[in-house]
Formats: sequence, C-alpha cells, structure tokens
Amino acid sequence: MNYSIIADAYEKIESTSKRLQMIDLLVDLLKITPKKIIDKVIYLTQGKICPDFIGLEVGIAEKLAIKALSRASGRNQSQIESHLQKSGDIGETTFKFISEKVQSTFFRRTLSVEQVHETFTKMAKTTGSGTIGLKISLLAGLLSDASPKEGKFLIRTVTRNLRLGIADMTVLDALAISYGGGKINRSLIERAYNISSDLGEVATIVAEKGLEGIKEIQVKIFEPIRPMLAERLSSPEEILDKLDGCCAAEYKYDGERVQAHKKGDQIALFSRRLENISSQYPDVIDIIKTRINAQDAIVEGEIVAIDNQTGELLPFQELMHRRRKYSVKSFMDQYPISLFLFEALFVNGKDLTVENYNIRRETLENIIVNNNRVKLAKNLKTKNAQELEAFFEEAIANGCEGIICKSIGKESIYKAGARGWLWIKYKRDYKSEMTDTIDLVIIGAFYGRGKRTGTYGTLLLATYNKDIDTFETVTKCGTGFTDEDLIKIPKILKNHLIQNKHSRVSSTINADVWFEPKIVLEIMGAEITLSPIHTCAINSIRKERGLAIRFPRFTGKYRSDKNAEDATTSKEIIKMYQRQFKQISNLMPN
Ligand code: ATP
Repeated sequence: MNYSIIADAYEKIESTSKRLQMIDLLVDLLKITPKKIIDKVIYLTQGKICPDFIGLEVGIAEKLAIKALSRASGRNQSQIESHLQKSGDIGETTFKFISEKVQSTFFRRTLSVEQVHETFTKMAKTTGSGTIGLKISLLAGLLSDASPKEGKFLIRTVTRNLRLGIADMTVLDALAISYGGGKINRSLIERAYNISSDLGEVATIVAEKGLEGIKEIQVKIFEPIRPMLAERLSSPEEILDKLDGCCAAEYKYDGERVQAHKKGDQIALFSRRLENISSQYPDVIDIIKTRINAQDAIVEGEIVAIDNQTGELLPFQELMHRRRKYSVKSFMDQYPISLFLFEALFVNGKDLTVENYNIRRETLENIIVNNNRVKLAKNLKTKNAQELEAFFEEAIANGCEGIICKSIGKESIYKAGARGWLWIKYKRDYKSEMTDTIDLVIIGAFYGRGKRTGTYGTLLLATYNKDIDTFETVTKCGTGFTDEDLIKIPKILKNHLIQNKHSRVSSTINADVWFEPKIVLEIMGAEITLSPIHTCAINSIRKERGLAIRFPRFTGKYRSDKNAEDATTSKEIIKMYQRQFKQISNLMPN
C-alpha cells in the first residue's frame, strides 16, 4: 500500500474538527487498507509503531530531524531552522523544502506503508554507538523518496507531532463500522481491546475473521489488561445501598498501580497507563518472582513508598523519585517500597477476569507468600455502615487515601477498561463535599501578567465526556502553582502546543494558546456551579448551561500516571453537583 494513500487520508482528517466525520474518513481508509497491514496503518495513524506496552517509540529530536531534512533536500540546516522558526511547524517546513528540491521526481521510489513502518521500527530499535547517525540516515532515506505531503507527515510522526486527534475510541468505532457489522457491535470489539490493549491486533482479527474471531481473543501473559476503575460515593450507607447491602472493602493505598505478569522466571510490570515500568522497580520484579507461587500469573496491586526507619506508608509523591531510567539501584535503597496486591486476573492458564470477586481473592490468597514487602490488600467484608466507616477511619489512620468497596455479588467480574459501580471508592476528601480533588486536563492557557509575564497566568482545564469522546471546559485555574511549577508547566506543555483548538475539545472560551489534551493535573475545587460559559455537561442539568468548578487550586500533584481519557468525567461532575445540591437542600427548612 502506498504511503501516499495514508498521507492523503491524514490531510483530510486533519482538516475536520467533527468527530463523526473523522470516523467516516478513518472507515474509508481502513476499507482500502489490505487486511494484512491494517495493524500497521492503525499504529501509524496514532503516531506509533506498536502498542504502548511494547515500549518501542518512534521519536527523534527536532534537531536531528532537521539534519535528515537538510540531507534529503540539499538545503543547509540554518535555512531550515530559520524557516521553522517562522512556521512553527516542522511538517510545513518539510513540505516547503521537499517541494523546492531540484532533483526530479523521476528518481523517486514510491514509498510504501510497509517500508515506512519497517524503517521507523529500525530507528526505534537502534541502540549503542552510532545510533544518532544511523537514525538520521534512515530518516533522510525516507525523506528523499517522499513527496512534499508524505514528507510532512513522516517528519511529524518521528518528531511526535502527528496530532490527528484519533483516540482509541475513534478507532474502535471505525473498526466496528468497517468490519464489525456496525456500531452496534462496538462493545464486543471494545472488550477484545480491553483484555489485549493492542488496537492493531484487534483490527487485524476483526478484519480477517470478523466478530467470531474477536470473540476468541483471550487474556495473554505480557499483554496488559486495561484496568478496572471505580466510581465514587460519599457515605457508607449510599455505598452499601448500591452494592446490594454488602461488600468487601479494601484499603485504598496511595501509590502507583501495577499490573505484574509472570511466566516462569520472566516478569513484566505495567503501569496504570500500561507502559512497561519493569526497569523502575527491580525490587517488585524480585517480589513477583519469589513470592508468587504460580507458574503463570497476572496480578494487580499498588506499589507504595515506605519510610525506611518506621515502615510507615508514605504518600504517592515519594514514588516519583523512582521514575527514572538510570541509577535505579541506589534509589531503590533510598526509597524502598511495599507491594499490596488486590487482584488476580489470570493464574496458571485460567482467565479470572470472568470470575467473581470471592474466587479472584481466594486465588490471590493461595498464590501469595506474604512477607513484610508483599501483602494482600487489607480487606473487610461487611453489611454494616458503621463497621465500614470505622474501617475507613482505620485506613486513613494507616496512611491510605480511603477505601475501595468492591461488589461480592455473582456478577462481580473484573470489568477491564471500565469505570463502573462494581467498585466504589470512598476517599477522605469526599467527606466535606466541596474539597473533592478531581483530575482535569489542560487544553488551553492564557498569558500571565505582572509577576507571571512571560509564562502562563491561568490554565483552561477540562473534564472528559466519554460518551462523545470530547474534552469539555470546566474551569480556569491560576492558583496553587509554585515558582517551580510556573517554570515546569510551560516546558511540559511546549510539546503539546497546537495552532487551533483541538478537534476533541469543546470550548466557548477563546484561549490565548491551545494544547492537545494530554497533561492531567489534580485540582481541588470549592464548589460546583451552573455556568453559561463552560461546556462541561452542557444541557444536562439546565438548557444551555454547563457546570463549572469555582475556586480551583492545583494540589501540586501532576497525574502523569493518567492519560487524558482517564481524567474526571463530565458525568462524575454531574453526580458531584447533584450530591452537593442534595446536601444543601437537606439543610434548608421544609
Ligand atoms: P484515584 O485518582 O482516586 O486513584 P483513579 O482514576 O486512578 O483514581 P480509580 O479506579 O478511580 O482510579 O480508583 C482506584 C485506584 O486506587 C486504582 O487505580 C489503584 O491505583 C488504587 N488502589 C489502591 N488500593 C486499591 C485496592 N485495594 N483496589 C483497587 N484499587 C486500589
């Protein structure tokens, strides 16, 4: 398949801001894609070469890309750099320099998707001395054969600037329409994705074998399962009510979620975002190797930083010291951890995601060999609201965030990739209704004045509306940032700067600058109100009104463990608003 076909499709996708149109364009592209390379087309369209958990990334620094372009176009680097400064878009700059190339198109070889994918993979895999030179030559080779349009998208991909806005959910919709018999069957395809986390694999199977093939997709060791997530409520009574009168409550440890895969002595660890984090936690690898008594297993738990002297649990932020590639060993001693396991998803060939809570927990108990570094998450089965409240207080006193109350009914399966009512979290913040922390996505910013001249004054933040795969503005936040944050945030955001509002963002407010929705911050709100300007949950409570967070403050916690799609949803804000309303009306005289 010629790469030009993809480049043409990207051009069309880029020019639309309507999600439905984007799906149609993707459907058109998938239909003309030969089935055996549909996985490659899906990866490339998301700016990748393989699923995230493999950990192979295309990506080179802009400087190196410029060198490659210089070689391919015969123009010197300073000419390219000065044009880039004006255009601000390496794609456009590449388009111009390839267009002006003197060499006749007669000598150009046609670029195929397979060749592009193979070259990107080679680039990602090169290591050791000479890596940089080899990467530049490989990219220059592609650019020499590229048309201006192809060059534009190739270079955007390798510099991580291909921002077509095609989210996983958009791909799933497009697959359901093109090969799955229509959107009505999306949930089946989504389930396959939730247990394999590999959109390319799911695409190949649905394209080649249809829905029957999809039904056969199984849980596999070393393919992470997308995590099950919890809803939230603010009182033990409500929780018990929702869970048919009884539940298994577990401590909600405040650390980093990990999904550990074990096959004999081979171990891999995946984060909440399903990145491979094995290299950060050699101690956890060791725990899984020696303390899980099963040949094959997939278990889930929370890695928590502990105080070296007292053994007490420390807050999540302490774990950030372990987010590093080098000198992990020395940081391991300085910042020791404990592992609290709470789920068994697969053990010795048996898929436990379809089993109920009791069976999963019992299996977990049977395979874990406790010591002071690995334990089962503490739990309590109860029907009694007071007992639940006491357990919650105990969890807080022991350094946890609160509790997670899990359904123990017949239907209490592990719902991969879904936030649902089988798990309900009860955190300390929810006790006083408007000190909830929520996780919001940065989608725009306004320039600062006075002390903040030259940096951003306020950030435009959004919730995620899962139903329509859109980010909806909910507040402007300029409080809670330290001087360090004010330097750090623009640096992080620079990589996500875009010219116009992102196609998946809904905003009536005009920000000074726009970002692709990527970065998630934890925010503490004071009150939720109806809003004529914010688009969060618009029309849900009242016509032409959205919801807004008043007096937002950054808590200092960068939720780098969350994707934008994992941010607080608009639906959650509606629920919080209604709860707050209920509480206020309880205080009013009848
Ligand atoms: P939060 O920001 O509240 O951690 P989240 O969106 O990351 O929320 P939720 O599903 O809402 O995830 O809350 C569950 C999270 O709590 C899990 O992702 C996990 O990291 C953590 N956790 C700690 N202890 C447990 C436990 N015993 N069972 C399940 N999850 C637990």
